[in-house]
Amino acid sequence: MSVLIVGTIGLDTIETPFGRKNEILGGSAVHASMASSFYAQTAIVGVAGNDFPKEYADLLKSRNINLGGVQIIEGHTFRWSGYYEYDMNKAHTRDTKLNVYAAFDPKIPDNLKKSDFVFLANLDPEIQLKVLDQLDKPKMVAMDTMDFWINSKRDALHEVIKRVDFVLMNDGEARQFMETPNLPVAASRLLKLGTKAVIIKKGEHGALLFTDGVHFSAPSYPQQMLRDPTGAGDSFAGGFIGYLAKSNDLSQENIRRAVIVGSVMASFNVEDFSLDRMRRLKRKEIIDRFQEFKDFSEFETIKPAHIKK
Ligand code: AMP
Repeated sequence: MSVLIVGTIGLDTIETPFGRKNEILGGSAVHASMASSFYAQTAIVGVAGNDFPKEYADLLKSRNINLGGVQIIEGHTFRWSGYYEYDMNKAHTRDTKLNVYAAFDPKIPDNLKKSDFVFLANLDPEIQLKVLDQLDKPKMVAMDTMDFWINSKRDALHEVIKRVDFVLMNDGEARQFMETPNLPVAASRLLKLGTKAVIIKKGEHGALLFTDGVHFSAPSYPQQMLRDPTGAGDSFAGGFIGYLAKSNDLSQENIRRAVIVGSVMASFNVEDFSLDRMRRLKRKEIIDRFQEFKDFSEFETIKPAHIKK
């Protein structure tokens, strides 16, 4: 099964304690599609300006990512500028320029309308709704968002959440959106809005999956090499949905596996700026890191005899 990803295609200017980079390849759809492309045939729907560098489009094509649904129009590509302090779990936005996304009217090409697995990456929720209206009975739809849209388009976000199967958010955003400091409470409020499952990404502290009555916790990875967390959430989502699409299995057991695949892809993405680590990533490295995640979270049940009577 193939994956359709709708989100931003952008140029990021990023400062972390490990350096500053200007106008590097970024955007929610770009990071997500790169991660998904390791598993499933992946297509992007989005828009770029005529200033979008050809070498960036070539990099995506080299991963066999279908760009047939990307409009190139006269104007400037989406730009985001942000910085991170030593607590790299929190991105600080300096500037967001929607540019060609301000008037973006998504047109899903006919051959992609029937996509079974769809990820609505971080994007204006009103555009996410226009995409949902064009889909032809997808098997599974997931969505992501961020504070920028929570602050400006809360009602549209509620509508999107009602209509998707999986909501992915980071911990700060889930707390902010559901107005509670408590993550399980935030997750149950999101479930009440109508989605079937919620995944809360906790940056370097792992991820939580909540569905009605079921809870799963993905471990944190002891990341030694952390240079730029931008795109971690999108890489998580891309790995998660790419793996589900390839296996075409939405059982609880496989969803848990996909949450770990997402964590694995995010853990690689943060090791370098932009897509620099992902473009060097090898299949064997994915398999080895998945095994590390498994080993970290394995433990035996308690021996009751060791508890005082
Ligand atoms: P994340 O996975 O949350 O770190 O997403 C990072 C990517 O999101 C960056 O490459 C940005 O280009 C993109 N981005 C930043 N702000 C927005 C926004 N308001 N809407 C959509 N995408 C954004």
